Amino acid sequence: MRIDSETCIACELCLPYCPMGAISMDDVAVIDQEECVDCGVCLRSGVCPSDCFIEEAAPWPRSLRATFSNPLTVHKETRIAGRGTEEMKTNEVTGRFKRGWAGLGVEFGRPGIGTRFRDVDKVAQALAKAGVEFEPMNPVTRLMVDQSTGKINDEVLNEKVLSAIIECRFPLEKAPAVLGALKEAAKEIDTVFSVDFINRVEPDDSVPAERILTEIGIPPSINGKNNVGLGRPLAEGGD
Ligand code: SF4
Ligand code: SF4
Repeated sequence: MRIDSETCIACELCLPYCPMGAISMDDVAVIDQEECVDCGVCLRSGVCPSDCFIEEAAPWPRSLRATFSNPLTVHKETRIAGRGTEEMKTNEVTGRFKRGWAGLGVEFGRPGIGTRFRDVDKVAQALAKAGVEFEPMNPVTRLMVDQSTGKINDEVLNEKVLSAIIECRFPLEKAPAVLGALKEAAKEIDTVFSVDFINRVEPDDSVPAERILTEIGIPPSINGKNNVGLGRPLAEGGD
């Protein structure tokens, strides 16, 4: 994103609209291109009385900023808009997480902070060492040069985005090692992440994730979500 300095009237109306705080005032408004994640909020807000915001297609690898930060863009490879797959919000869509398995969503970045892929890379490599399988249709997975190590393409490591999600799965017995790897990796990065820990409720209504988290000293969130499983896997008799 850039601002037309010829038409900017320095009204400052756009400043609070940028979720990254990337717009500041000189003689006119300017955008810090290192911090701008090309989310398009400034343009879509329509706040500028002079129509100063100009959005141009960025070359690779900067083009990643818009595809991860602007919800109106679609990832070319996965054909999905936004940060992750539909499965992250509705566990029953494809039956990805079988009984005895756990899923993990690691959601990097928040407005005001964002994330660079170098931090996503550090966590992905730590998770790979702990034995996870990365979700092939996730846009972060598509940036890996080797899914067995979680290594992300060096070309993109400095790119900054509003948010990115790692999606993976692993047998439940690996959960303590996987969550332990996450805790260690969190010490090495310059952003924040939240964790979605996903599993199937057992026939006796117990939730393996609750037991595992309690055993390793992580209090389960009271914001836990149960999906009732009205999707394809149960309709097809899947387990
Ligand atoms: S595109 Fe997004 S990050 Fe960049 S200046 Fe506009 S609002 Fe800020
Ligand atoms: S809203 Fe438009 S005219 Fe006002 S400071 Fe921002 S870019 Fe300049």
